[in-house]
Amino acid sequence: KKLGIALVGLGSYSTYQLAPALMDTEHCYLAGIVTGTPEKEQIWAKRYKIPTTNIYNYKNFDSISDNKDIDIVYVVLPNSMHAEFSIRAAKAGKHVICEKPMAMNVDECDAIIKACNDAGVKLGMGYRLHSEPYTQEVKRFVKEKTFGNVHYITADAGYRSRSNPNQWRLDKKLSGGGALMNMGVYAIQSIIYGTGENPISVTAQEYSTAPEYFKETDETITAQFEFESGAVGNIMTSHNIRANRLFASCDNGWFELDPASTYIPLAGRTSNGPLDFLQESQQKLQMDDFAKHILFDAPNRAPGDMGKRDMIIVEAIYNSIAEGGKRMPLDFKPSFGFG
Ligand code: NAD
Repeated sequence: KKLGIALVGLGSYSTYQLAPALMDTEHCYLAGIVTGTPEKEQIWAKRYKIPTTNIYNYKNFDSISDNKDIDIVYVVLPNSMHAEFSIRAAKAGKHVICEKPMAMNVDECDAIIKACNDAGVKLGMGYRLHSEPYTQEVKRFVKEKTFGNVHYITADAGYRSRSNPNQWRLDKKLSGGGALMNMGVYAIQSIIYGTGENPISVTAQEYSTAPEYFKETDETITAQFEFESGAVGNIMTSHNIRANRLFASCDNGWFELDPASTYIPLAGRTSNGPLDFLQESQQKLQMDDFAKHILFDAPNRAPGDMGKRDMIIVEAIYNSIAEGGKRMPLDFKPSFGFG
């Protein structure tokens, strides 16, 4: 059986990545859509042969509970709408994939996790890299200590965005924050799977060079992390600097991905030589992995706890900046958020 996915929010990520990937998935398919833009209904219905009965808008969305074609609801809306639609999907009895960042704050993450637990449905994050071979290789280096212990890890995730001052990502009510909420979660993820540890503290700084464009949301943030093993980490995330990298220095060498979190193609090298993996669509791999989790009890590679952990770190970074760069302790259980 192939599970039916309904995409909620038909913006650029759904249009150019998720829907095309769902044409190639083996364990799930594009069964329905939920859109607030009536003109998109017929375009998508025609392009993807979606029956009228599987098309919803934001108002009648809850009646999706009666639709046996839809097993999974994938929330691909602006960040401020993630919690509402993930919770409504869970209450409708559907499994949920929630895009990153999970929500606007940790309280919303808790509410999503609770709604999914109460409804007995599965919850996965849209963290596509966990299904992707370069990232899996980094995790293997860490687990098998291929280069010994990691002593220093650094991760950058940013791009230059000056084309549309009206985009929701610059509107704090819709995004919850700027570069950190958007790209910063990739850098946070990198330093965690690149060490195999959750951090025990963070200290952060914010830089603003174009306040006339980045009026409400963070432009560039750096943050330093301590880990229980003694490893130290550093991240840089920006809406005004192009960078996409992970680098780890270890006992007996180093490993690097650059780019480390773009869709395709990733690339990497180590002190032993280059990495070279065949790359399929990351979104295809990610959605198939989540379907396998539901169908065959395969591991949930990016569970809700992982999204919540990252939001706890995001909040600690914003709090550190608000307190003038104060060191903020972090206290995760050893297994919290690992997938
Ligand atoms: P987008 O702006 O292209 O699309 C947003 C969609 O939400 C549009 O269809 C828009 O009509 C709809 N929408 C509903 N209410 C809205 C409102 N009040 N304001 C603006 N749009 C509204 O955004 P996107 O790039 O598709 O991002 C959607 C989500 O997916 C975000 O949470 C983003 O972080 C996430 N995303 C994840 C990845 C990834 O690699 N995992 C990549 C891109 C985006």
